[in-house]
Amino acid sequence: MNENTILDQLVYDPADGKLTYRDIRYVIIRPETIVGFQKAIEQHSRKSARDALFQGGYQGGYLSAQKFKEMQNLSDTQTINFMMTMGAEIGWGHFELIEYDFESHNLQIRVNHSAFAEAYGDATEGVCHLINGVLSGLATVLFRRNCKGSETRCLAKGDTHCLFHISEK
Ligand SMILES: [Zn+2]
Repeated sequence: MNENTILDQLVYDPADGKLTYRDIRYVIIRPETIVGFQKAIEQHSRKSARDALFQGGYQGGYLSAQKFKEMQNLSDTQTINFMMTMGAEIGWGHFELIEYDFESHNLQIRVNHSAFAEAYGDATEGVCHLINGVLSGLATVLFRRNCKGSETRCLAKGDTHCLFHISEK
């Protein structure tokens, strides 16, 4: 018993080399791989690295939030909790809701032990653009408006945790 609903429901197809969770394919990837892409792009442009990871995360977060919300008929708060639990269960870190305000379209989430910040090492600015993208994709589903986020605290720059503020674009 590992108390991890994702691992409990993960289906392995050895013939095709596939892992699926509720019929959606997933891959297990070391955070160093993601950080490797990030640092390679950063050699050319920090903004391009940030944008590329953000967009990738945004796409995944948007699709997941929409699909799992619909599939399980979840309320907005349940969707946030589901996504935060999933984030932990896939090993990205421990997510905690700080603020959710539907009226003002604000979402604030704190992440402890970000896998990406730990893999990155020391930095002078936030490095968890993938998480920022996922949370912005989630917020876009909740608020039905395009959202963007900023990471105001990050473990990689010496803060005790990462903090994301998501709002309408
Ligand atoms: Zn971070």
